[in-house]
Amino acid sequence: MSNDCIFCMILEGKIPSTKVYEDEFVFAFRDIHPMAPTHILVIPKEHIASADEITGKNSSYVAKIFEVIPKIAAAEGLANGYRVITNCGEDGCQSVKHLHFHLLGGRKLPETLA
Ligand code: 5GP
Ligand code: ZN
Repeated sequence: MSNDCIFCMILEGKIPSTKVYEDEFVFAFRDIHPMAPTHILVIPKEHIASADEITGKNSSYVAKIFEVIPKIAAAEGLANGYRVITNCGEDGCQSVKHLHFHLLGGRKLPETLA
């Protein structure tokens, strides 16, 4: 855990969130500023700063996250598809330095990213 990380604070219950899924490794909650009808953040329960910090030691969290995403998508009724995004670093416009995957769906999303 990192003391100055808002997602670690969410994991510790110090900041409230709308939880949609939790297990031993993964936590998922609704984004506070949704960009689509479904906008969920899926995060590891270990503080990994970004995709750039994924290693052989912590990549099992990423595998767990991607096992959970289809379950959340099904629970959210995203049978027509969805998008998973992770922003990394300055050029990727990452604002929270705790690895997170945006799960977006519920409408046709734009084809282009930028
Ligand atoms: P990033 O820009 O780092 O890829 O995404 C960070 C996301 O976290 C943003 O979509 C933002 O709306 C969301 N976010 C930031 N602070 C909070 C918070 O305190 N609670 C929740 N639920 N989402 C947050
Ligand atoms: Zn953190």
